Formats: sequence, C-alpha cells, structure tokens
Amino acid sequence: MKILITGGAGFIGSHTILEILEHTDWTPISLDSFINSEPRTFDRIKDITGTEVKNYALDLRNLEDCRQVFEENEFAGILHFAALKAVGESVQKPLLYYQNNIQGLLNLIDLQMEYGVPHHIYSSSCTVYGSAKELPVSESTPSGQAESPYGWTKVMSEEILKDIALSSESLNVLALRYFNPVGAHSSGKLGELPKGVPNNLVPYITQTAVGVREKLTIHGDDYETRDGTCLRDYIHVTDIASAHLAAMKHLLEGKQRAPFDFINLGSGIGVTVKEAVDAFIKVNQVHLNYAIGPRRSGDVAAIYADNTKALSVLGWKPIRDLDEMMRSAWKWQQELGRQSL
Ligand code: UDP
Repeated sequence: MKILITGGAGFIGSHTILEILEHTDWTPISLDSFINSEPRTFDRIKDITGTEVKNYALDLRNLEDCRQVFEENEFAGILHFAALKAVGESVQKPLLYYQNNIQGLLNLIDLQMEYGVPHHIYSSSCTVYGSAKELPVSESTPSGQAESPYGWTKVMSEEILKDIALSSESLNVLALRYFNPVGAHSSGKLGELPKGVPNNLVPYITQTAVGVREKLTIHGDDYETRDGTCLRDYIHVTDIASAHLAAMKHLLEGKQRAPFDFINLGSGIGVTVKEAVDAFIKVNQVHLNYAIGPRRSGDVAAIYADNTKALSVLGWKPIRDLDEMMRSAWKWQQELGRQSL
C-alpha cells in the first residue's frame, strides 16, 4: 500500500517516513522539491532502515509537473507536510508563503480528487489558536485568529480542506495541529536541519552548545509565567510521527465520523524557556552560553495543549519526555557538527 508523503525530506516528514518503515508495511513515496531540505536526508533514512525511499523532486506549485507522481502510483492516502514555516520570513514574503502553502495545497487536492485518493492528513499548527485566552487549548477553543501570513496559511488551509471534504462524497481529511515539535530520532542520525540562523529555541540551543552560535538569547523574562519566560508545549518529533501513523490508520479503517476533523498534537505539559534550557544543560552535561534579552515581537506568553482528544479518538499519547527531547536533539547536533543547511 502506497502512501504519499509531501515534504518527505523535511523535519516531521522524514521522521514520519522512518516510523512508517519501522512499524508498518506501507510504502512511503515522497514528493519534496528540496526548497527547504536536502537530498541527503534520504541517505540518512537508508542508513537507519536499509530502505531507499523514492522521492519526486517536484514543486507542488506546478500541478502539471506533479501529475506524474499520481500517474505512476496508486495511493491509499496522503500525508501533506510540504510547506514553508518561518513566521518572520512569512511577514517579509507573504506571497511566497501563500503560493507555497495555499497554491501547493490546492494543486495537491486537485490531483488527489482527480485520481481518487480518499484520505488526507494535513499538517496544521497551534498557530491557528492565535493568542488563546484560556489554557490549555482544546479543539473547542476558538481558532481563526492567526498572527502572521504563515499562521493565516494554516487557518485558510483548514477552511479550504473542510469545505472541499464536506462537498465531496469520497474525501476524508484530518488536520493535526502541532504544538512545538523538537528532538530527533533516537539513533542521532536524523533530526532537524534549519536553514540559516534558527528561529526556534531547541536548534538555537544545540547550535550554541556546539559553537555555531555564540550565545542563546532568552527572549524576555518579564512575562506572567512561573519564572517570567514564555511557556510552550514541546513534543518529541517521533511522537508526532507516530501520531500520523495512528491518524492514517484511523482514516484507512473508516473510523472518522465526519469528512473533516482536527486534533491537537501536544504533550499537554507547559515548559518555560528557562526550564527547557536547564533540562538541556542537565541531561547533556554541557555548557551553554545564554543571556536574557528583550521580548521577541509576536510571542504569546503561554500556550499548551489539551491533548485528550488525540487519546480518545486516535488512541495516541506522547511517550517521550523533555529530557529525551533534549538528549536526542544534542545527539543529532553532535552528528551534524557545525553543518547547517
Ligand atoms: N526563544 C528564545 N530564544 C531563541 C528562540 C526562541 O528565547 O533564540 C523562545 C521564544 O521566545 C518562545 C520559545 O522560545 O518563547 C519557543 O520559540 P520557538 O520559536 O521555538 O517556537 P514558537 O514561537 O513557535 O512557539
């Protein structure tokens, strides 16, 4: 059974391919243009699993190019990861984000409908909740107030998918709203490869510890949280990957009641920036140069997930804790050394 993975060389896509190879008999086929990733990822997957994954190096913005993927394969379902994800860049280049994340989705759905592929798991984000007033955020928390063009692409994509799924006889869509995916595969041979200077906390920490960056700046310690630094819900990328297997099985087995649904993927635990930094230092026994700086614009003080729907609907819950996230992220950075994309 073939499953199409768009963005298979990206952070979550590549870890999901590993989970598929390690735990199912599905054949993952990837579509990744390498706009924000590198072909070596497939060599790394082969090192770990012994399996060569077929990738089509095509761009979803071009529908006719991508038709070939559907002509050559019959898919049981699609896991759609391919998208740009840097909040700051999306403010500078909104057109690029709308073209990649929206036009890419429209083309994919167009092909999916034409070729009759019934199931679609969509990579969404807790960014759709914007600045939520009540914590933790559950799926009944109002969404739709994004704070960047990137965030709007996630809100809009969910709306588009919902409208199309509701009007179609045959399409089932499940959107998974990720909180903060971090960490790396337990082998240390696959992990996140940020482009240029990382925006995200954990790659910034590991690059600082390895000496690529001089110093980590903690963006603000005057928030209304237990230690003044922002609070987030960090979740191990392998747990996120395993949720995609559970989600696809849920659709394949015809268990989704409505044509469109959405589920939070978080650990359910709020962790402050200082706690994350302390966990990294403690678990890896390494020095980390850091200092407190001003707030970063656009940051919400605190957000974490109510993840009970994932357990009740998919039977999924995260099993890797913060220490494991920090241990695996550091193992991967050591494998990578000072390399970046
Ligand atoms: N953060 C920080 N220094 C950095 C990068 C991030 O203090 O160099 C903080 C950031 O302000 C936020 C948290 O770490 O409070 C998580 O940020 P990230 O960009 O990883 O995720 P997001 O903002 O999407 O939750």
